[in-house]
Amino acid sequence: MPIKLPNNGTKISIQNNSLNVPNNPILGYIEGDGIGQDITNSCLRIWDAAVLKAYNGERKIHWAELFMGEKASKIYNGDYFPAETLQALRDLVVSIKGPLTTPIGGGFRSLNVSLRQTLDLYACVRPLRYYNGIPSPLSHPELIDVTIFRENTEDVYAGIEYQSGSPEMRKVENFLKQEMGAKFFADSGIGIKPISPFATKRLVRKAIKFAIDNNKRNVTLVHKGNIMKFTEGAFRNWGYELAKEEFASETITEEELYSKYNGEQPADKIVIKDRIADIMFQLMLLRPAEFDVIATMNLNGDYLSDAIAAQVGGMGIAPGANMNDDIAVFEATHGTAPKYANLNKVNPGSLLFSGVNMLEHIGWQKAADLISNAYPKVIQKKIVTYDFARLMEGATEVSTSGFADHLITEIDR
Ligand code: NAP
Repeated sequence: MPIKLPNNGTKISIQNNSLNVPNNPILGYIEGDGIGQDITNSCLRIWDAAVLKAYNGERKIHWAELFMGEKASKIYNGDYFPAETLQALRDLVVSIKGPLTTPIGGGFRSLNVSLRQTLDLYACVRPLRYYNGIPSPLSHPELIDVTIFRENTEDVYAGIEYQSGSPEMRKVENFLKQEMGAKFFADSGIGIKPISPFATKRLVRKAIKFAIDNNKRNVTLVHKGNIMKFTEGAFRNWGYELAKEEFASETITEEELYSKYNGEQPADKIVIKDRIADIMFQLMLLRPAEFDVIATMNLNGDYLSDAIAAQVGGMGIAPGANMNDDIAVFEATHGTAPKYANLNKVNPGSLLFSGVNMLEHIGWQKAADLISNAYPKVIQKKIVTYDFARLMEGATEVSTSGFADHLITEIDR
């Protein structure tokens, strides 16, 4: 058994739908491929330093290394996606991972997608906010503080596609044209996007709960329901339905805000609103302060989270997590950037802030805050990795581990 759990740690458990976190939790980490080793080693040092500073040794994370991707394949005889690792991710409840290369011809569309599907991690959660000093293309990036809940199990991720000319495509084409009266060009490749009330409601429920727990003021359902009425439009309708069924005392709709409350939002109510996907991209550029939490389907969420990430500094610092009601796997949102592998060069920010969100998730807010507060101080001194250095004048470019050293010094100050 390659996975060794640390002797002095205790597993996190779940009691009454909430996490029971001991002072010595075992957290899993997957180093990741390519630049994974560089960013993971640096981040482990930063997270440990923040926990030590915050709790003086009373609390300590006991890390268990888990294996997936290329490192796993070496250890598990060519298996990139070991069952032992999947079981450990379930058992340990909270873990974090670096980026993974998808083996070509390995029978996987993507290891990351497989991981989300196998563990039914139905919500991809991407908090996006601005830290002072980071180069941004916007005049007021500080107005962005939004958390996206992107559905992870259906829409295009359901992967129902038929290749042009294949027997399966012919069968579907015949059915759609002859039995359903559909019209489309001959030889079209065909894709089907299922959107269900079940998957919509569990995602919107998670987004609203997050808004309640974190004192957010609104949740926006983003959809293209004006065109795709029975998928995207249904997502919108089921989202409002869920809010009414389960959160009637905590939420009001935007329509009610004006019809019942004269446009004045009561302090104890979260506004549920919806926006069409295309206008949402404009709004996130022009009036981003109007959005706290976004709930949306897979493809919209994919585009929107990368676009908003770019507004606050890019993929190098955008954090993420994939979770269900029990298990959470935090992750760097960028890929393995193979050309920078083992050069100790890239920005550790994406994994770093995924770890900050992980500390918040387990309730260790003080340690999370130490990192969030120290980070802009280092950036404002223009001590940055190459990706930010090329966008700043007068920057001091440092390595991944060099950046970690500066950040730890600032945390300890
Ligand atoms: P990528 O690895 O994200 O890299 C694309 C570019 O993004 C890099 O060349 C670099 O830009 C910038 N970048 C990425 N991470 C950075 C960091 N930490 N700091 C600074 N800049 C960073 O995307 P890709 O080249 O398309 O994909 C490579 C592999 O990663 C593929 O095998 C793909 O399947 C996999 N992938 C994995 C995940 C995941 O595990 N979650 C996600 C996406 C892709 P510059 O060259 O401009 O400096």
